[in-house]
Amino acid sequence: MLYLVEHFYSIQGEGKYTGVPSLFFRFGGCNMRCEGFGCVETLDNGSTLVGCDTLYAVDKHAFGAMWQAIEEVEQLVHIFQSYPLPSDVDVVFTGGEPLLHANNPVLVAFVEYLIVHHHRVTFETNSAVAVDFERYPVYKSCVFALSVKLSNSAEPYSKRVRPEIFNAIITHANESFFKFTVDAQSLEQGLEDEIDAIVALAEKTEVSCMPKGGSREEVEHHTQATIAYCKKKGFRYSDRLHIRIWDQNKGV
Ligand code: SF4
Repeated sequence: MLYLVEHFYSIQGEGKYTGVPSLFFRFGGCNMRCEGFGCVETLDNGSTLVGCDTLYAVDKHAFGAMWQAIEEVEQLVHIFQSYPLPSDVDVVFTGGEPLLHANNPVLVAFVEYLIVHHHRVTFETNSAVAVDFERYPVYKSCVFALSVKLSNSAEPYSKRVRPEIFNAIITHANESFFKFTVDAQSLEQGLEDEIDAIVALAEKTEVSCMPKGGSREEVEHHTQATIAYCKKKGFRYSDRLHIRIWDQNKGV
């Protein structure tokens, strides 16, 4: 089953295509939790959960009742067609981890529909879920923003760093780039070496880094250290524009 958490038309807030008008589909479920990012969600019963800034798209137990079950590609096409969009608008699949659904025939059919209609389709992925390019060649036409998780996510190394998976994506996809989330404290404590080691494992690809944060205040706190790091390494600095503008992550 495919679960849709939200859809919205906005500008891309992160990565290489920052600022580009994009229609977002946020799918539910993730193979990680990333408690190291320290974002807190308070539930109706007063209890709190800790995870990443899209915990509401990760934790099915706590938030799944608000997710929309998608059983047919026509549902996604209908949503897509309900927006007054430029004819070649970018479409971004995010989550959660959208590649958890990469073998779902409904998602495959929707990607095929978008590619046939000349849309750039970007998957924002943690790069730890394999894509079957042989069986589903349409994915070769997609863009992959590879957000390999670092130790500041608090996920175990063997789970978050999967070179066989990200190298297959880099090799087969139309376009891909690394997008790391960094913070001032972790950079002081050796995150730089970690990123170097991951990039060394990869086939050649672009690297961008963005400041950690689920709020404007936190993003600003880590911005200067992230810029200094990018200048030193020659990496592209990526802001988190949606958070800086709207101070939130949901629906923007
Ligand atoms: S991999 Fe991404 S969506 Fe999943 S828990 Fe980590 S930051 Fe959140």
